[in-house]
Amino acid sequence: MCNALRVRWTIIPQTAPQPWIACSGCGGLRAFQSSGKTRLNANGRKLDAWLIYKCLSCEKTWNRPIFERQNIRDIDPAVLEALHANDPHWIRRETFNLEALRRKAQRVDEFPEFDIQKEVLHDTLDWTRLDIDLRVSLPTSTRLDRLLASELRVSRARLQALHDGGALWTNPDRADILRRRVKTGTRVMIDLSTEAGREQVWRPLVQGGPL
Ligand SMILES: [Zn+2]
Repeated sequence: MCNALRVRWTIIPQTAPQPWIACSGCGGLRAFQSSGKTRLNANGRKLDAWLIYKCLSCEKTWNRPIFERQNIRDIDPAVLEALHANDPHWIRRETFNLEALRRKAQRVDEFPEFDIQKEVLHDTLDWTRLDIDLRVSLPTSTRLDRLLASELRVSRARLQALHDGGALWTNPDRADILRRRVKTGTRVMIDLSTEAGREQVWRPLVQGGPL
């Protein structure tokens, strides 16, 4: 532990998934994107709520149900408040609700581009091991090997070889973890004790920002 450079990487996906919906404007299946707006409709004590999407080709709208004909009493007050306020954080989170989108669309496009924030949790000058604590702000389709390859500038083949040789391991661990989506709470450890360029080459990539 004391010979580890420990960092936290927070992955922030850039683009929400886009469902393909039959567009009445275009007359065929088209990709739709959230407008960032919701609509509430009250009918006595029942409420409907939708997230408004727009066709990327013609801007025709599609109302994605959040809930329909729900008794006001049964709705989480926090959700109701977010809907009334058009809360951008709540709406953004909902646009990444892949399960809900897949219930409404056979095809949902996902986008692997992300922003990343890096912070050092534990530093030492004679480190020989990297310890990366992964956080994902919203569900992302980015695979772990692609994330590590782009951030550490090593090939995916090399990452696989490190993993196979036991110099890269994760917690939780599973054989195919490199090919799976990045999950919050995953820790990646890489033994770099035989690497000469730890400070010069690896550290700036690992901790980000100017040295
Ligand atoms: Zn259209």
